[in-house]
Amino acid sequence: MSDLSKFTPRVFSGIKPSGGLTLGNYLGAIKRFVDWQEAGSHETIYCVVDMHAITVWQDPAELHAATREVAAGFLASGIDPTKSILFNQSQVSAHTELAWIFNCVARVGWMNRMTQFKDKAGTNAEKASLGLYAYPALMAADILIYHATHVPVGEDQKQHVELTRDIAQKFNHDYKVDFFPETAPVIEGPATRVMNLRDGTKKMSKSGESDMERINMTDDAATIAKKFKKAKTDPEPLPETLEGLAGRPEAKNLVDIYAGLSGQTDEQVIAEYAGAGWGRFKPALADLAVEKMAPISEEMSRLMADPAEIDRILAHGAEQAREIAEPILSEAFRIVGLVGR
Ligand code: ATP
Ligand code: MG
Repeated sequence: MSDLSKFTPRVFSGIKPSGGLTLGNYLGAIKRFVDWQEAGSHETIYCVVDMHAITVWQDPAELHAATREVAAGFLASGIDPTKSILFNQSQVSAHTELAWIFNCVARVGWMNRMTQFKDKAGTNAEKASLGLYAYPALMAADILIYHATHVPVGEDQKQHVELTRDIAQKFNHDYKVDFFPETAPVIEGPATRVMNLRDGTKKMSKSGESDMERINMTDDAATIAKKFKKAKTDPEPLPETLEGLAGRPEAKNLVDIYAGLSGQTDEQVIAEYAGAGWGRFKPALADLAVEKMAPISEEMSRLMADPAEIDRILAHGAEQAREIAEPILSEAFRIVGLVGR
């Protein structure tokens, strides 16, 4: 077991530019990235993981725009390039170079257990890209190329961060070194799994089919209100206690979202709205979402009007990222016996 304390305390996490950002990405990831940055206890590195996006076909012009939009979402939410390193993955080639080594460390059997591949490949897995299948090895490289010790993610990424730890362990074992940290997933807060607004059994995703199932970070006030109004619920009012949310996925989801946005626990939200009907709770939720998200979405539009500035920030972040990644990659090559780096 490698000792995390011998590594620089460092946070890494990423978001794919596979579409526009959602409230799930905000509450489950970005908002928490900002908290880590502000805590100041760890170096913080955040990445727009464009190489992951192309595991599913992307229109090139849309991918380019989405990369800038995700960067704008980070910045507008409070990621400060003077405090955190912010860049896009394809500018730092060490990620894919280390990923190749990890493709050779990870076992096919491990990949076969990844539930995200099963979900994304659907019923016709034979037609999925090889990249989609190998994606978790690239994700392990994204994290370990910085010797990151902590990875804040939503609940859906837990399995991939655990695989990252398995890869680090097997690498260390196979080469008799103590080189890669056994990174810990950090899954915290009331909104680590925001659900689809039309189906409380499915995760809210930026690549989901219908726009009505998600709140986009760029939605205007009227759209947010409409989407919450139409969100699926059951006929019961909100319960008097937390236990009363059991078996009510849609109700629990809306309470989680309210808690995530207001910085409260589910318990506090229930205490305030015990017995309230949807006619009262949904408009309160919509108002809260607009209050919290409108300033971010306005700032995103302002930033996106100046793409050259976003590109400049990403290029600068990539330079900083390379400074950390390159020596780690060179050492990994040396350990493996690859000549010339
Ligand atoms: P895609 O549908 O293309 O996979 P996504 O919305 O799942 O997009 P990702 O880029 O895969 O977004 O994930 C970025 C981060 O956001 C990860 O840390 C992930 O766990 C988190 N995240 C994604 N969806 C949710 C959600 N519904 N609730 C909480 N966190 C989420
Ligand atoms: Mg995802």
